[in-house]
Amino acid sequence: MEQYIQQAISAGLSEICFLDHLTLHERGRHMSMTPSDVPLYYQTIRRLGHIYKNDILVKAGLEIDYDPENLSEIKKIIQPYDFDVIGGSVHFIDKMNIVSSKDTKLREQETIDVICADYLFLMEEMIENMAIDVICHLDITKKFGRRPSAAVKEKFEDVLSKIRYKNLAVELNTSGFNHAANEFYPDPDLLKKCFENNIRVTLGSDAHAPGQVARHFDEAMALLRETGYGAVTAFHRQADYDVPLPAPVKQL
Ligand SMILES: [Zn+2]
Repeated sequence: MEQYIQQAISAGLSEICFLDHLTLHERGRHMSMTPSDVPLYYQTIRRLGHIYKNDILVKAGLEIDYDPENLSEIKKIIQPYDFDVIGGSVHFIDKMNIVSSKDTKLREQETIDVICADYLFLMEEMIENMAIDVICHLDITKKFGRRPSAAVKEKFEDVLSKIRYKNLAVELNTSGFNHAANEFYPDPDLLKKCFENNIRVTLGSDAHAPGQVARHFDEAMALLRETGYGAVTAFHRQADYDVPLPAPVKQL
């Protein structure tokens, strides 16, 4: 974790937020800490935040995997802690992992339109039922390069009104450039729709290794500016505030 912070400092970030996974789904254990890891995770972030307080703000967050079966359990696990931000994401449709290459065969038995429709159903349920601040990687269903028909794509836009209604932010997740999707989550069209709906955006690199911290952030900030955004949103104890985007780097 310390290496992530050092990488963020050398990338010139003013803050870093850890957003490790918490999933209770039986098939997601390998991609998540266990509930008993949460206290150490939280305390480590606060301790490192103190050590690095003159160099960078260090925030404690969680990316919670929406799982209708375990909603009250999740609440109980996170309740004792004062997290800065809670992100929500959908990784599983029933038993199918939509982000793991291990489940490619299973996913390919289904059309991407059906997968997207099921995904959006769960996403709407999550927005309804979970106290979250940020929607993580909104259109992650394109991770492996398959894209839905125009009619299903439009349904992603329907979700934005629910996001707006709950006053949630959307994460601009830069990891998509390293996947077959080959673009950010959400895509530029969907990001534009977020802007038109007055939805705030946070910036995330979905780093699974220290070297991935702040990956593609220059392109992401350029896209945000192009879209109309002047700031990204950050969180302190679940209260949001703006971090203005820096002026574009001049090309020599
Ligand atoms: Zn995720």
